[in-house]
Amino acid sequence: MNVVPGYLLGLVVTGHLDAAQVFLGKDNPWWLVLSACALIGPLYALFKVLQWSSRNWSTHPIAESLSVFCNNNTTWLAVAADINIEFRRIDKICFDTNSITKIVATDNWIIKVTPYTLYFAHQSDTALIVNKSDTHALSLHSRGEVQYVNIEVILARSGAKSFNIRLNALGFKDLQDKISRPITILNSVVFHRTLLERFIDTFKEQIAQNPVYETAQELEQCVGCMQAISNVKLNKLCSDGNQTPEACVSCFCRPMWCVDCLAKWFASRQDDTAPETWLSSKCTCPVCRAKFCLLDVYAHPVDHDDDITKNVILRKTQLVIYSSILNFTIITTKEEILGE
Ligand SMILES: [Zn+2]
Ligand SMILES: [Zn+2]
Ligand SMILES: [Zn+2]
Repeated sequence: MNVVPGYLLGLVVTGHLDAAQVFLGKDNPWWLVLSACALIGPLYALFKVLQWSSRNWSTHPIAESLSVFCNNNTTWLAVAADINIEFRRIDKICFDTNSITKIVATDNWIIKVTPYTLYFAHQSDTALIVNKSDTHALSLHSRGEVQYVNIEVILARSGAKSFNIRLNALGFKDLQDKISRPITILNSVVFHRTLLERFIDTFKEQIAQNPVYETAQELEQCVGCMQAISNVKLNKLCSDGNQTPEACVSCFCRPMWCVDCLAKWFASRQDDTAPETWLSSKCTCPVCRAKFCLLDVYAHPVDHDDDITKNVILRKTQLVIYSSILNFTIITTKEEILGE
């Protein structure tokens, strides 16, 4: 809209149009009203810019929100310079919440960028609370889903505005690592921070449906984490024939792993680019390298199930179906999986 008066002004200045005809409307009096309306916007913007520019821009909304963070006699320019230095560092992290909102976390600052406003929070006087999570299907046709968390950023400093940030749950861990303050998660909020965390939960759910393992020997500590008691045992139970090299084989190792460590091991041997295949794939025993699938993992013990084989054949079809639950983008790398 502002282009038109500029264009007309150009025509007047270069002598192609008569100024009186354009702006005063010699032929039609409504023309004057229209040109006045068209000028209101640009004139108001100009007025605002002039107003902000007084006193070295200190009345600009961004300068005002920065001046809240000034300590003993510094100006907003010092705060801006401080943010600028941190923002240029390579280790800052950015999240695009949507196409117009962005969250930036530097060593000391959390910044939310929206089209009209910038929100700042200095980490030293900020409390972060995860107060909501929501899950959305990625598409109507696949089972993949994406989880978002809502984090309330509460500023203790007087005059500073609190704000909310929303981000993909898989980015939560990156944010948590970057921010020096602990992030409080309300008890009612449940979400998976990484693909691995989500896989471990699904893995446990699946194992829980397998027959249990009974043993008279005392179970030792898990050799993976050295904390939990080994509570899983590998033993071929699926209906795979022994003919192909890909078939599962029996493992005769004693129980040495806890279910979390085994799930991590399992995930680390899978194809990163196809998480939807993980549950129905195979992995090798960490010690004897015997191939096993999810159906061959016995959880340690309570009761014995007589109907084992029938149960297992049924579950084999289920696993392929459940596999697509994990069908979403991966951000967890193998290094992260093994790193814990
Ligand atoms: Zn363990
Ligand atoms: Zn083994
Ligand atoms: Zn198997």
